[in-house]
Amino acid sequence: MKRYGRVRSMSEEVDWDSLTFSLTPTDTMYLTETTATEPWMPGSLRPYGAIPMSPAAGVLNYGQGLFEGMKAFRTSKDRVVFFRPEENARRMQRGADRLKMPPVPESIFIDAVEQCVQANIKWVPPTGRGALYVRPLLMGSGPVLGVAPAPSYTYLVYVTPVGPYFKGGVSAIDLLISEDYHRAAPGGSGGVKAIGNYAPGMMPSKKAKAAGFAEVIYLDAETHNYIEEVGAANFFCVKDNTLYTPELTGTILPGITRQSIIELARHNGYDVVETKVSAEFAMGADEAFCCGTAAVISPIGSITKGGEKAVYGDGKPGPITEQLYSHLVGIQNETEEDLFGWLHEIPL
Ligand SMILES: *Cc1c(COP(=O)(O)O)cnc(C)c1O
Repeated sequence: MKRYGRVRSMSEEVDWDSLTFSLTPTDTMYLTETTATEPWMPGSLRPYGAIPMSPAAGVLNYGQGLFEGMKAFRTSKDRVVFFRPEENARRMQRGADRLKMPPVPESIFIDAVEQCVQANIKWVPPTGRGALYVRPLLMGSGPVLGVAPAPSYTYLVYVTPVGPYFKGGVSAIDLLISEDYHRAAPGGSGGVKAIGNYAPGMMPSKKAKAAGFAEVIYLDAETHNYIEEVGAANFFCVKDNTLYTPELTGTILPGITRQSIIELARHNGYDVVETKVSAEFAMGADEAFCCGTAAVISPIGSITKGGEKAVYGDGKPGPITEQLYSHLVGIQNETEEDLFGWLHEIPL
């Protein structure tokens, strides 16, 4: 039987339980433009849909583009909140510097994501049944032929409702260490959410999936010893009650979930070490998990490297993984106290 959630102030109904992490087009998006020399001005809302673009746009020809990913949650107190949106704004600014684009001021970034959620409020799922995923994009949209920064830029925000990442309970995933591919090199763009970082991961990821794994683990490109990331998520392992996560060397994307887990774990009395985490060390750990906005925390059930397979627990999340997962999700839906002031209420 299908269950339908009531949508406040709308007669229309959405089948929340059929949502997965995939695109459901919504009503309204936000867009603003500027040139390479003028300041950003607040933009406007418009119907969700295709945008005209020059065939010579910098983003189409040379990948001058960044994305962000964040969620708006309807909490148990019936408020709609973002989780640390200022961090997304700042990360996009650092990315803009790296890709030679004009950084969007934090005030415009936040105003845009708020307006976009407000305009699509009927798409925010009920508490615990998903979130409204918010996707800001910054791109060189003006025409350019030689390899150079575009003459003009577009900042665009669209939203799509997504279901809870794990349906029917959290389950541990099996991962494969990539022997042949790397995600990022020192001095490159791995530390920012540059759109061009993601297509090269699709083939290795598909290959791993065809072999029965959920995703690949990338090692560092220099020594091929140290774990960097799990697909597009950050990595943690737990050994003797201490958490270990790869240090931010410039080739790892500084995840907001990663940073929040570090702060939460320390608050709960655990030692957290940001260091080089070798594949060998991780494979001897007691628990392992990966994290990011989409899944929050995914427990890792096994890691395979060449002919070796390390198995963690019995297919269920380890105790520390479980504790951090419920604490973080609890903060996000306001069943746990917002100890660090991470929630940002969206006025409705
Ligand atoms: C976005 C992303 C993450 C996770 O970052 P969050 O801010 O926690 O969502 C991790 N790794 C990569 C490569 C990413 O693109």
